[in-house]
Amino acid sequence: MTDTILDVQDLRKYFPVKKGFFRRHVGDVKAVDGVSFTVDRGETLGLVGESGCGKTTTGRSVLRAIEPTSGSIRFFENGKDPVDVTQLTKAGMRHLRQKMQMIFQDPYASLNPRMTVEEIVKEPLFCFGVGTARERRERVGELLQVVGLDPKYMSRYPHTFSGGQRQRIGIARALALHPDLIVADEAVSALDVSVQAQVLNLILELQNQFHLTYIFIAHDIGVVDHICDRVAVMYIGKMVEVAGTKSLFRSPKHPYTEALLSAVPRPNPHYELKRMVLEGEVVDPAHRPSGCAFHPRCRYADGLCAAETPAMETVPQEDSRGSHAVACHHFKELQLKGVFR
Ligand code: SF4
Repeated sequence: MTDTILDVQDLRKYFPVKKGFFRRHVGDVKAVDGVSFTVDRGETLGLVGESGCGKTTTGRSVLRAIEPTSGSIRFFENGKDPVDVTQLTKAGMRHLRQKMQMIFQDPYASLNPRMTVEEIVKEPLFCFGVGTARERRERVGELLQVVGLDPKYMSRYPHTFSGGQRQRIGIARALALHPDLIVADEAVSALDVSVQAQVLNLILELQNQFHLTYIFIAHDIGVVDHICDRVAVMYIGKMVEVAGTKSLFRSPKHPYTEALLSAVPRPNPHYELKRMVLEGEVVDPAHRPSGCAFHPRCRYADGLCAAETPAMETVPQEDSRGSHAVACHHFKELQLKGVFR
């Protein structure tokens, strides 16, 4: 039996567009437009897509770091009835914030340069009144050890650390209150490739050690390969494909996923590398194309694609249990290229 920790239904986040002297409401940027998904306890769900597809807005809406326009976000705290995050009062949100934390993209910008590492990591403990001053200091030492940093450097400032070390400090801060769910927003994007691997390994180790659940947001689909159990691909505010990582990489069913996968470097030199270059920019979410939003850039598009929005259909995964969901009129006829894993 699966144990769901998060159930998001029909989540929308619209940003109003206002114009003129009287700031008339003339439209909406539909950053997230009817997204539904669930996350099981202990699972890592990857959210991928180009910049502007709505993945970060989805992650922030789940934590209510920004207010969703509509939809439900049910969080199942261990052994308790679910709470709808969108309906919680300030006091309710305060309790929940201990259970849901975030790792930020930019380790240079997300740490206050005027605070020491000790102050940064113990800030959540202080805000929630956890422990005495001495206990908090001891907890900071423990957390730094857990993320692979020497506690003797806790009195240093962030600028004395490398990018990878700073991200470890950010991870220590996220772990301080024993969260159940962590939204990692482009957690390794700003790091060098070799450091990326170390931080990804740390994220995996911590998941095993503390039974964490992750929503892992990345624009680079190659990064989610080793860390995610399932991957959801987003395009202009909607999910277009959701499947187990292996199934999605081996046999993608949406042309957008195929194009993203074609950019993943392959370790096999005999494998023919043919990158599909997507023509044009990601469409402005304020002016979504008719029908399938991907049709202006899709090599398989026809008249039906421009006229009708494809519904999400679910089929069994080919090589493992679970389901593979895709929103494409022609997924049954297309033979798309994946990445052999
Ligand atoms: Fe391409 Fe048409 Fe499928 Fe959209 S519905 S992804 S345009 S084939």
